[in-house]
Amino acid sequence: MSASTNRPISISSFPSPIIHLDCDAFFTSVEQALHPELKGKPVVTGKERGIVACASYEAKALGVKRPMRLWEAQKVCPSLICLPSDYETYSLISKRMFEIIRRFTPTIEEYSIDEAFAELSGLRRLHRAGYADIAWKIKQTVQQELGFTVSVGLSASKTLAKIASKEKKPDGFFVLRASELHLFLPKVALERVCGFGPNTVALLEKQGIRNVWDYVSRPEAWAQRFLGKIGVELWHELRGEAVYPIVTQEKEDYASISKTKTFTPPSSEKDFVKAQLVRNLESAFIKMRRHKLRAKKVCIFLRDQEFRSSGIEGAFDRSTSSTLDAVNLVGDLFEQIFSPGTAYRLTGIVLSKMEADRTVQYDLFDDVPKIESLKRIDRVLDGVNELYGKHALHLGTSLWLGKHRQHVAGRGDLPERKMRLLKGETFRRRLGIPIWNVQV
Ligand SMILES: [Mg+2]
Repeated sequence: MSASTNRPISISSFPSPIIHLDCDAFFTSVEQALHPELKGKPVVTGKERGIVACASYEAKALGVKRPMRLWEAQKVCPSLICLPSDYETYSLISKRMFEIIRRFTPTIEEYSIDEAFAELSGLRRLHRAGYADIAWKIKQTVQQELGFTVSVGLSASKTLAKIASKEKKPDGFFVLRASELHLFLPKVALERVCGFGPNTVALLEKQGIRNVWDYVSRPEAWAQRFLGKIGVELWHELRGEAVYPIVTQEKEDYASISKTKTFTPPSSEKDFVKAQLVRNLESAFIKMRRHKLRAKKVCIFLRDQEFRSSGIEGAFDRSTSSTLDAVNLVGDLFEQIFSPGTAYRLTGIVLSKMEADRTVQYDLFDDVPKIESLKRIDRVLDGVNELYGKHALHLGTSLWLGKHRQHVAGRGDLPERKMRLLKGETFRRRLGIPIWNVQV
């Protein structure tokens, strides 16, 4: 369909006004806001794992990307400042960010640690301003009170608002009216739609769909035939007809779950080190399932005798809570960073991009029977372990653990917050601050 025949889908600008707010380089922005001497400098977090977890825009401008190994990042940017992640502080700032938005509207979804959706319907009279002005005011207030920039997109559905917030990032502000979709969507690549994975994009391209406008110009029945239920939902969302509700229920207090274990004596035996890592994986997944969460990303790291860390990050095909599902990817990642002849003293695992394991939204190409059977295995695993103790039933790989005696030794790089304990705090129990990063 050519652009000249594009006609408005909607006469109303915002049938349901929704904003997506996304903090810019959140972890490093928090560090720079709390430590002004870091402002304007290339900063990364993730020192404790040896990989870049978040890079400031100054660092990005100098070629630092995530997830790069730290030594690689330092090579491209010798003046790089590397900080250990301080998830507790990030979580507090995150909570503050949600509270600021909540002052404007009660209908807010804590989508991730640094992202929120919020509904603005019915607020115009209260704030004596139009939706775009309210959205702008939310952006300004968050920035003023937190001390760093955020990007805001205002549109007519969650899917569109998320596309809008990316449009001018960082420090972005973009208003996408439903009445102007016919002018904007022809410029939007399919990959930018949250919900169109690489497989879906490839399939759509085969059908001659080159951009989002092409997609929404096809009949609804066509979307149903090719992509089923999710396809139809996205078809409506992208046409400015909100389908996905704002989930106002507060999120669990987890940005990530991490498990690390130090062992003595250090070992260069590959199977043993891998077994340590897999044991961490099992523990992290048990904990995650207990909290009814699932993860999309995993990072593994190893630390050698000289306290050098190496880490690597990977993403699951879709978020998962199944240990068996994860063990292959973790094995592959391990192969990539294990270096023969090196004596290791610590392995660790961090699960991130977590979400509630409530409604499973299968991707179009998921192997549903396999996923369901993996879930059943996990239920048995958790049941047995409940009865007979943690790790009574475990993966074969971790049998290697029995060969060595081990105990937990010292800890590695710690964020400032953990080194300067407040009065009345111990290492594990800290005052009034949610524990996000649990180490065993
Ligand atoms: Mg962000």
